[in-house]
Amino acid sequence: MAKIAFIGLGHMGGGMAPNLAKAGHEVRAFDLSEAALSAAEQNGCVRAGSTEDAVRDADVVVTMLPAAQHVLGVYRDQVLGMAPTSALLIDCSTIDVASARTVEEEAAAQGYTMVDAPVSGGIAAAASGNLTFMVGGSDEAFERAKPFIEPMAKAVIHAGGAGAGQAAKICNNMILGVTMAATCEAFVLAQKLGLDPQVFFDISSKASGQSWSMTTYCPVPGVGPETPADHDYEGGFAAGLMLKDLKLAMDAAEQAGAYTPMGGEAEELYQRFVNLGGGSKDFSGIIKMIDDSWKA
Ligand code: NAD
Repeated sequence: MAKIAFIGLGHMGGGMAPNLAKAGHEVRAFDLSEAALSAAEQNGCVRAGSTEDAVRDADVVVTMLPAAQHVLGVYRDQVLGMAPTSALLIDCSTIDVASARTVEEEAAAQGYTMVDAPVSGGIAAAASGNLTFMVGGSDEAFERAKPFIEPMAKAVIHAGGAGAGQAAKICNNMILGVTMAATCEAFVLAQKLGLDPQVFFDISSKASGQSWSMTTYCPVPGVGPETPADHDYEGGFAAGLMLKDLKLAMDAAEQAGAYTPMGGEAEELYQRFVNLGGGSKDFSGIIKMIDDSWKA
């Protein structure tokens, strides 16, 4: 069994790290938050005093940090040169493709193997070990990383070379942001046209309007399977994080010269929702902004 340093024990990492411990690994966990550290300790991880401490003789380093600046800072100042060069580095945070490639190049220059491995699935999937991982890196790096990712995953997919995991993640979430906005608009229009939301769900979830946003994550309370809509849009995937991912997608589109008008519209909608105070609400809560007279 391996010594795994796990850095970043927030909503996601706090669920993921214990799954590695349950799989029999020695997980040395660190987070700037004392509460997050205590929770990880109670869930089978070993508390480390710092990132440097956690990585010192690690076989594998896993990071689950908020954004690119944290990832670049942690790797440059506390991992590269501190962990043995034999350690495999796995960054699961969602960050921009260019930063992922930069940190992987800097790691390779110092002799490390690194993959970007962002995830799809929320806090519940993190806790239950049911995340989908999209992995960027060489074939050899992917094969090395896979067995360490598997205890946290329902699927582990090799997306391509360095940064390809991040590319897949932001393209996937651009679809999600756009389909959720379209699904919310359709429910509002359907209601104004006199359709019962349940009847519209029954039809559209079996017709060509079907998508994950409709069938699995319906934004209307009391319709379809239980979702954050049934809990006043609490829990789930925060609108602020959806906005972050849409901004990453729009920046990447600009750099790559891709035309993404629907992604741009979705970014504007989520920006407005966050400005109105909805940043911590589930992202399906934009239905209330699209029509503030919306009633369940
Ligand atoms: P979070 O803010 O809950 O957790 C991040 C943790 O990192 C915090 O506990 C923070 O204290 C810690 N941290 C920050 N800087 C640190 C440092 N220098 N050293 C050690 N610890 C540090 O965020 P989260 O919701 O767990 O998300 C983590 C990543 O996963 C993000 O990139 C996010 O976009 C992505 N993601 C989140 C979700 C979700 O539903 N929450 C889903 C998929 C992907």
